[in-house]
Amino acid sequence: MLRMITPMFIYILYNLYIINNMMNHGTIAELLFPTRCVACGRYSGRLICAGCTAAFPLIRDPVCRRCGKPAMYYVDECNLCRGRLKDIEAGVALAVYEEPLRTVIHGMKYGRMWRLARPLGYMAAVRIAPVLGETSPCVTYVPMHPRRRRVRGYDHAELLARAVAEALGLPLLRLLERTRHTLSQTTLDLRGRRENVRGAFRATTGRTPCGEVVLVDDVMTTGCTLSECAGVLRRAGVKRVFACVVARDLVNPEMGEKGSALFSG
Ligand SMILES: [Zn+2]
Ligand SMILES: [Zn+2]
Repeated sequence: MLRMITPMFIYILYNLYIINNMMNHGTIAELLFPTRCVACGRYSGRLICAGCTAAFPLIRDPVCRRCGKPAMYYVDECNLCRGRLKDIEAGVALAVYEEPLRTVIHGMKYGRMWRLARPLGYMAAVRIAPVLGETSPCVTYVPMHPRRRRVRGYDHAELLARAVAEALGLPLLRLLERTRHTLSQTTLDLRGRRENVRGAFRATTGRTPCGEVVLVDDVMTTGCTLSECAGVLRRAGVKRVFACVVARDLVNPEMGEKGSALFSG
């Protein structure tokens, strides 16, 4: 019996392989394990379906040049970042940290959906490209603590940075490392956040070989973490740091209310 079944099984597999090649690569896999949209759960064949991508609360110009917050007109600093992000030359965010993007980022970070980093990084790259002008910076990221990375199995910011670097044709370098474990920033107020990340990063090499750096992370809220990292890079010899994030969380830890500062300069 087994002698009959084995060649038959191989024959079926071979035919599936041929069909798969004749159609599109991955078609059979898609039939057997259809891909669901992370945000809405529909079987769309894509990790983020067209409807959810279109529903991303994209940030359009004009913005605050420093932190990427939407504004009524271009400003160099705004009420959310004034005087606090001195080491960041310019910052951009793809979209506001709201649904459905919030669910997508959550899936990328905590749901083992590391494959989401690529499309998100590509979209963020489109947003940062015009800010970079004629410069040819290196791309780096806000690193996780090695212990947390081991548990999760990947560093989502690194994967985002890889996608940004790939999309822009720029080199990806690991310029920073996290030297101590920090609390989650989400429960802390502005002062707490600043204290929490102070001295938590250092440059991997004494002097950095890049004059300009694109610093990638998933979400910017107060910018304390990005600012701390930018400071380390500047002290390591980087002239200009451009922050590039997927989402801009507009919670103001000093004022508490979300959106209260959305359209004020
Ligand atoms: Zn969807
Ligand atoms: Zn700002």
